Amino acid sequence: LPDPAATALQGPDIRALYPVPRGESDKYSRGVLGLLAGSAQYPGAAVIATSGALAGPVGMVRYVGPDAVAAEVRAEHPEIVAGEGRVQAWAIGSGLGDELDLPRIRALLDAEEPVVLDADGLKALDESGDHDGILATPHAGELGRLLGVERSAIEAERLKYARVAAERFDVTFLLKGSTTVVAAPDGQVRVNTNGTPWLATAGSGDVLAGLCGALLAAGLNPLDAGSVGAYLHAAAARLASAYGPVTAMRIAGALPEATRRILDRR
Ligand code: AMP
Ligand code: MG
Repeated sequence: LPDPAATALQGPDIRALYPVPRGESDKYSRGVLGLLAGSAQYPGAAVIATSGALAGPVGMVRYVGPDAVAAEVRAEHPEIVAGEGRVQAWAIGSGLGDELDLPRIRALLDAEEPVVLDADGLKALDESGDHDGILATPHAGELGRLLGVERSAIEAERLKYARVAAERFDVTFLLKGSTTVVAAPDGQVRVNTNGTPWLATAGSGDVLAGLCGALLAAGLNPLDAGSVGAYLHAAAARLASAYGPVTAMRIAGALPEATRRILDRR
């Protein structure tokens, strides 16, 4: 990515941005994340996205989705609260399948709370919306569909197309791939070169969406949330790969230790 304007993220950047709980924090002030994800076809995506969120700096995760999926999420993660309520941010899109409700998602995009928008949820984006505080997290295929451009063209000019999308939709875009680009509508761009091919595994993007949602709920802006999320996601996959083949749940499982290693280093 030969662009001097795009800064490659480094550990110290992440340490400076990471929202560590303070003495006076409570679970609400640390941030409540609403997770709109999962369906009868893809209940695992909800479980995996919740794993990513709970490995981030969030005070609480509210799961919003079908009762049967909520039961599966709770079985894996007794920490979750099921059902609507006040949240500081949303993570929307993982495994929605038949549950995809674009008008509902558009209403959430137009509300005040920041949103991570992933997977089929990306179909709710339009160029005319007033989309403050949004982090869209497509891979090249999803971005190609949004822009009406071949996937191969996106892959060939990732930095350019991340910028084009950020400007066109007026939201921050995190374009996933072997190098991840985070482009804000004001022109700021960061790249994460810390990735590993071990990240190319089913559910990997759901971990990232949950983690970025937690970072938004904790108060980071979309550019910073995407930057910290992409870096830690990659660091966790590297750490997990030391123990053998990597799965999405192993990435989520390695996130706390990957985070600790970055925060503790001086
Ligand atoms: P998704 O396709 O939504 O599951 O997301 C895949 C995740 O894996 C994203 O975070 C990508 O950046 C990452 N990823 C996929 N392939 C690679 C690769 N070859 N090298 C590094 N990261 C990758
Ligand atoms: Mg995905």
